[in-house]
Amino acid sequence: MPFQTPVYNSLKNQIDSNVTIVAVSKTKPIADLQEAYETGVRDFGENYAQELVDKYEALPKNIHWHFIGHLQSNKVKYIAPFVHLIHGVDSEKLLIEINKQGQKINKKISCLLQIYIAKEETKFGLNEDELESIIQKLPQLPFVQISGMMGMASFSSDSQIVKSEFDTLKQLFDKYSTSSTENFNLETLSMGMSGDYKMAISCGSNMIRIGSMLFGEREYKK
Ligand SMILES: *Cc1c(COP(=O)(O)O)cnc(C)c1O
Repeated sequence: MPFQTPVYNSLKNQIDSNVTIVAVSKTKPIADLQEAYETGVRDFGENYAQELVDKYEALPKNIHWHFIGHLQSNKVKYIAPFVHLIHGVDSEKLLIEINKQGQKINKKISCLLQIYIAKEETKFGLNEDELESIIQKLPQLPFVQISGMMGMASFSSDSQIVKSEFDTLKQLFDKYSTSSTENFNLETLSMGMSGDYKMAISCGSNMIRIGSMLFGEREYKK
């Protein structure tokens, strides 16, 4: 299925202009991204470092590339020079590596801290204690810029569960928004995907990550 231009346009019309749509293009061929680009998409989200590098090299340079997957420390160096925002930062170890790679190229790298909100074992993220401990370390990590938080709700058809998880993240976001420092300044709340973006926006999200709705279902390599 090619990029769904009408769906993208109606999504844009539906939502407030302060909400950024990240078009999640993982596993999709470059031709599909090119089509999206021609429609006006400038924010793309990818989950795999090598795939992100390949697409970055093939496509126009004014794209904002979002890394939304679970980033391994040894892959940071490949994406550091051009990545716009790393969404899924969930450990101090990863943050230390991002800082190190940022320092090498003299670039402050913007990151979102991923917060654990789902009642599912499979989802990554920090709890509030871990969040506190990372915030304490930030003065020593001047090449990372924490500009927001990211979370994934449970994969559930029970909208009350999803709502309460998004509400939890929004409350945490508001709580820590008041305590800005040199490299900790919460502006972006990345929550919501194809199945739950409406709920996410009603709970205060200002960045949604939309994949299958725009590009069709994904087929995974075995
Ligand atoms: C794949 C992915 C998405 C997009 O999911 P869809 O349900 O296809 O919209 C959003 N966020 C993350 C972190 C993802 O890995």
